Amino acid sequence: GDHANTTTSAIDETSGSGQGDPEVLLRTITKDLGKTCFTGQPIGKGRYGEVWKASFKGRIVAIKCVKSTEGESFYRETNIYATNMLRHLNILDFIGSDMRSVCHGYTELLLITAYHPLGSLYDFLRVEKIDKLIAARLLNSALSGLVHLHCGIDGHSPFGDQDQGKYKVAIAHRDIKSRNILVKKDLTCCVADFGMAVKRNSDGRTDFGNSLPKIKIGTRRYMAPEILNEKINVSDFSAFQKADVYALGLLIWEITRCVPVGKEFSDDGLFYEPAFFDVVSADPQFQEMEGIICDRKLRPTHNSKWDDDPFTKGLGKLQSDCWCDDPSARLTMVRIKKTVARLESDIIDEMKLTGQDICDLITLKSEK
Ligand code: ADP
Ligand code: MG
Ligand code: MG
Repeated sequence: GDHANTTTSAIDETSGSGQGDPEVLLRTITKDLGKTCFTGQPIGKGRYGEVWKASFKGRIVAIKCVKSTEGESFYRETNIYATNMLRHLNILDFIGSDMRSVCHGYTELLLITAYHPLGSLYDFLRVEKIDKLIAARLLNSALSGLVHLHCGIDGHSPFGDQDQGKYKVAIAHRDIKSRNILVKKDLTCCVADFGMAVKRNSDGRTDFGNSLPKIKIGTRRYMAPEILNEKINVSDFSAFQKADVYALGLLIWEITRCVPVGKEFSDDGLFYEPAFFDVVSADPQFQEMEGIICDRKLRPTHNSKWDDDPFTKGLGKLQSDCWCDDPSARLTMVRIKKTVARLESDIIDEMKLTGQDICDLITLKSEK
């Protein structure tokens, strides 16, 4: 059944769909979720909080709850969601934020977003068998979100008022991994969890908001070598984009590994494993990661069977162009997106699929 009971909230919904007004989005919802108590099991758990499914104004939503003592990532995340022009099909839809006091005398911070029943890409890859078409669709859509996140959009308002203009600051995610990408019902992805994201200032430097410029935040398994050895120049915003691309390389490897290779569907690669599953422990420490990434320069293994198919071959090449030791040698998000978009359209051509065929296939697959 449902994980959470229904909230009887009289909460003010901040904004409808479409382009959000950052002022309205950032405004804390005045009437809190009140006496709502979530029962059963949370739908997700991260390092800082729990995510619950709830009903809010007649709509099923996801609510991420964190204790106010862990407020830093919450304020960072709400601040990112308030970014002008961030709204995008492949960025998790933000609905609002709120806080409430819970019985044991502490305050809980709540972040309300659209709810995606298929959960994270991690959850999805662990239970679903995917083929080339689905893999390309998942990855290409996630990349649309990541490109939108990474890119700054310049724009000048005829009124000279920046807030009225079509501009968007560049953002680096800093915690890219399959658990922070959600799968929507149509088997496209959206990017989530902006608790560690940073923005670019107009001078190209990193805007850390009100938080300290900590280097080693994020998930150790996905940390780029320059983060593990702390050689990254944190004031240079583009350094964080390059670290994101490194993590994306590992994510592409994880997806590629799940794609069946060869003519028949063998069991090859159908079982999801996170990058470095075979060389590090379940929750690796910094030293352990630094040893394999910086000293031994290990990267996930390339399956030679991938070279038999242009799609998996293309992804194999892409991975290694993302996780280079030298950050400046890595591809940009835009470049990666272009390559994956081409690989996806090649599959569609190869399978001679029409738009309607794809719709039917996706519907079939997502309704299973
Ligand atoms: P944290 O910052 O604590 O890591 P996340 O925002 O990553 O929190 O959420 C934790 C987990 O909860 C995700 O990995 C995912 O499995 C699940 N989750 C988060 N948001 C949603 C959502 N909107 N719909 C469905 N599942 C979600
Ligand atoms: Mg997370
Ligand atoms: Mg987080």
